[in-house]
Amino acid sequence: MANITVSDSLRNFVPRGPKLIRVKGKKLLTWAAIEEFQQRKKEKGYAVQVGDISGSTGMQGDGMNIFEPYQLGRWDFHRALVRDFKKVKDNQKAFEKWVPEFAECCGDLFYDWPAAGHLGLGSLLEDWFAELEILESAIEAIDSGKGKTLKDPKVLATSIAKTKITGPPVLSQQLKRFTYPDLNFKHQKRSKESVLALGAESLIGFCWLLVAREIEMGIKYVECRSFSIPHKDAHSGLQVDGCGRWVPNINPKGNPMTVCSKGCSTRADRAAKKAAKKPAK
Ligand SMILES: [Zn+2]
Repeated sequence: MANITVSDSLRNFVPRGPKLIRVKGKKLLTWAAIEEFQQRKKEKGYAVQVGDISGSTGMQGDGMNIFEPYQLGRWDFHRALVRDFKKVKDNQKAFEKWVPEFAECCGDLFYDWPAAGHLGLGSLLEDWFAELEILESAIEAIDSGKGKTLKDPKVLATSIAKTKITGPPVLSQQLKRFTYPDLNFKHQKRSKESVLALGAESLIGFCWLLVAREIEMGIKYVECRSFSIPHKDAHSGLQVDGCGRWVPNINPKGNPMTVCSKGCSTRADRAAKKAAKKPAK
C-alpha cells in the first residue's frame, strides 16, 4: 500500500469551439480557437509563442476557460467519465457527438494545452476510445474486487522454456505515461514543507491518480447523500433528478466526505429532517 499524494497542478485549458475534423484519414478533436492560433503562427512565421493567447486568436475573455478538477473538488471525475463513456461507446455517432460536448466544458483529455497535441491541433479520436476503454476496465476491476490485478506485471509473451516475459503493470504504466513527479506541492497550504506528489499532465492523468488512490489506499466511493434528491441545478438552471455524483470516503486533501457540495449538504439535511418528522404524525 502506497500513499498517493495528488498534486493540484493541473490547469486544463478549454479553448473556444471544440469540433471533430478529419486529418489524413483520422478523426481529430480540435478547437476553432486553436486552428486560428496555428494559422496566425504560420502567417507570422514562428514569432507567436504558445503562451501568446492574446489578440485575434479569440482565446481571451469569453473564449477562454480553464478547468481545474482539483480546485473544483471533482473527485469522482474518473467514474463520471466512464459512466458517460459507457452510454455512448456502442454508437459511433453518439460517441462523436459526446466528445466535443465533454471537451466544451472540461477541455481535452490528453493535452492541458491542445496546441501541444497531435499536429499542433489536438487529440485523436481513436486515442479517446482506446484510453477510455482501459479506464473503464480498471474501474470494473476495482468494483469487482480485483483492483489489485492492475498491479500485476503484464505478461507480454511466454518463451519456449515457458518463462513468462513481462512488462510493467497497467497501473504503473498509466501513471508513467500521464503523470509526473511534482516536488513543489504543498499538501497543507500553510506548511513550508513540500512533499513528493504526483501531478496530472492531463485529465486522463488525473483519472489515473484517482484510480491509483482507490487501489493503493483502499479509497471507497459512495453516492453523495443528495445523489437522487431532485433539485434545480445551480450551474445550468435545469431541473435534475439529483446531483448524480460519488464521493470518496477520504478526498485527496485528506478530508472525509459524505456530500459532494454545500448545496447537496443542505438538500440532504433538509430531506433527512423531513423524513424524521413524518413518523411522528
Ligand atoms: Zn451531491
